[in-house]
This record gives sequence, structure tokens and C-alpha cells, in this order.
Amino acid sequence: MALRPSEDALTALRDFVRRIHALDRTAPAVQELTLLVDGREERLALSEPVVKALVEALRVFHDPRDKGRCDYCGGPLDDNFLCRDCGAFSGVFGQLLAERAGDYTPPEELPPARG
Ligand SMILES: [Zn+2]
Repeated sequence: MALRPSEDALTALRDFVRRIHALDRTAPAVQELTLLVDGREERLALSEPVVKALVEALRVFHDPRDKGRCDYCGGPLDDNFLCRDCGAFSGVFGQLLAERAGDYTPPEELPPARG
């Protein structure tokens, strides 16, 4: 049976805390994280190493859909380096793509193959 996304997140977080805490079992809890998922509350005791690992993991995560920010307005870019907010192409690569696309003329069609 597949887990619901909220259960996946809760399980992943609980497993992460256990995995990191196992590396330094004597470290005392310095914070408590309380999670409320679908009416079910769970408290996770976090030691200093776990807090540091959790913060670092969250800060270094990069969503592959994130193509960066617009040079002009800071909005998110699409796969073609086009800003989703202001519509400008961003960066040198974005400008090159725009210029190439503007100069593009489709090639002539080939004559039908002789059979
Ligand atoms: Zn923009």
C-alpha cells in the first residue's frame, strides 16, 4: 500500500532524525520538533548534530525544476531561461537563445524520395 505524501514526509523526517542521531547517541536533545499531520501529532527530539544536518540538508536542496532567477526582476526562469514574471530572457545564455531563435529560418523541404 502506497503512503500518502504527508506520511511519506513524516516517515522521511523521522528516519532522517534517527539516522543522524545514531551517529552520536550521547548528544543531548536541544530542540523539539512537533509535527501535526492529519490530526496526528508527533514530537521529534533533535540533538545539535541533527539540527545542523537538517538545516544543511534543507539549505542545499536544489529542485531540478528551479532554473535560476531573472537578472532583471528576480522572478523564476523557465527551461528556456525566459522569466516567468517579466518575460525577459535572462543571462548571456538566455540572450544567445533569443537571438538564435530570432534568426532561425526553417530549412527548405527536401524533394520527395524517388522510389
Ligand atoms: Zn524577470
